[in-house]
Amino acid sequence: MDTLTVMKVCCIGAGYVGGPTCAVMALKCPDIQVTVVDRSSERIAQWNSEKLPIYEPGLDDVVKKCRNVNLFFSTDIETAIKEADLIFISVNTPTKNFGNGKGRAADLKYVESAARMIAEIAQSNKIVVEKSTVPVRAAESIMHILHANQRPGIRYDILSNPEFLAEGTAIEDLVHADRVLIGGEETPEGHKAVEKLSWIYEHWIPKKNILTTNTWSSELSKLAANAFLAQRISSINSLSAVCEATGADVSEVARAVGLDSRIGAKFLQASVGFGGSCFQKDILNLVYICEGLNLPEVAAYWQQVIDMNEYQKSRFSQKIIESLFNTVSDKRISIFGFAFKKNTGDTRETPAITVCKTLLEEGAKLDIYDPKVEPEQIIDDLTHPCVTESPENVKKAVQIHSDPYSAVRGTHAIVLCTEWDEFVTLDYKRIYQSMMKPAYIFDGRKILDHENLQQIGFHVQTIGKRYQR
Ligand code: NAD
Repeated sequence: MDTLTVMKVCCIGAGYVGGPTCAVMALKCPDIQVTVVDRSSERIAQWNSEKLPIYEPGLDDVVKKCRNVNLFFSTDIETAIKEADLIFISVNTPTKNFGNGKGRAADLKYVESAARMIAEIAQSNKIVVEKSTVPVRAAESIMHILHANQRPGIRYDILSNPEFLAEGTAIEDLVHADRVLIGGEETPEGHKAVEKLSWIYEHWIPKKNILTTNTWSSELSKLAANAFLAQRISSINSLSAVCEATGADVSEVARAVGLDSRIGAKFLQASVGFGGSCFQKDILNLVYICEGLNLPEVAAYWQQVIDMNEYQKSRFSQKIIESLFNTVSDKRISIFGFAFKKNTGDTRETPAITVCKTLLEEGAKLDIYDPKVEPEQIIDDLTHPCVTESPENVKKAVQIHSDPYSAVRGTHAIVLCTEWDEFVTLDYKRIYQSMMKPAYIFDGRKILDHENLQQIGFHVQTIGKRYQR
């Protein structure tokens, strides 16, 4: 690659992946011009403002350093595509529900529309990179769309380059990626395209950590990685139920199991369940692919990871109701944390939605506090689709607080749904005094000092440990 010519990169989709990925790319590659485009003018305006549309530790600094230097956020999709040598497609790929409620494939309509835009606009050769998580062989569909609308003399190369960042640690994950995966066609032209993308990453990722495969392996590896991560959570959560029934302690079991170097300690934290926009969606996608390939046993195997997660969320919610003397009707309950994990404001598939909706269905009143989630987002999540007769009733039953101490005044219980660090160091004596008695804490993330809380007077319940009154 001739490093003297400025390479122009365009990214379609300025979301949780497109924004941080391009910000880090711009930071590490001063010789590349990166333009992130989105059809949402509101999102682009936020990227160009002081308050970015997403919260990620370290993101503000990176964006401030590069914005309008070699990083641009724009709604001018046409110019960005026209000028780019390499185009990332980083649009959302949500789950599509079919009528019979069974097959739940990835909805590729946004990927398709991005491909159609490229085909319509491109006037020179383009390397098109799937950054979005897609089903295996999605590159084939993109190629069909591009070729069907191809102008004479234009060449397209399609690469798969799935993103492995985790929300909450996106910048760290991008800067120090375990690996970068690039899948391409096994032809001389395909290899050249892979080399070009690899050249970008080599600005900051050691070459030995850049893995190249064929396109289909790369696409499948992304689904496989998320399926394995979610499977570990469901495995330890399944054992948490056994622990509660037998007197074993899931933290002790996880430690004992995780010290086996063949297994390792990561992702063995029992909890109320996994959330986020990816795990469930990507496993459903894998299940759908397996069904299509007539591999029902494989589909059922991975489906169980999701079913176990649903079971865990509902088991935890039922435990709260049972402990509060089998009725939460008109009881006020504090919810600590609504995001699907700490250090993000993202609520997609957060277990807090299931817990809150179950409690609302049983007539509880909720006092919710999360340090990063916008109040409108919480109300939106709890009213779409609505569990009670009307969204108005939900709005009446839910109060959002900007401070944890106001969220506990006069409540019967605290339900901790997100592992925000600040929950560990709150003044629980003060909290206990302002609550109804008996006062309960349900620690869905196992982060609090339970002994200390019990000494204060709380009844503490957690995941994977038998409760002793
Ligand atoms: P997102 O919803 O935050 O952002 C997607 C953006 O694409 C939106 O702003 C939307 O307006 C824009 N968009 C959609 N169609 C468009 C079009 N035709 N033209 C211009 N803009 C368009 O999604 P995300 O969380 O960034 O995820 C993007 C992809 O990356 C998904 O496939 C997801 O599975 C995958 N992924 C996500 C994560 C994560 O942690 N969020 C991690 C790894 C991979």
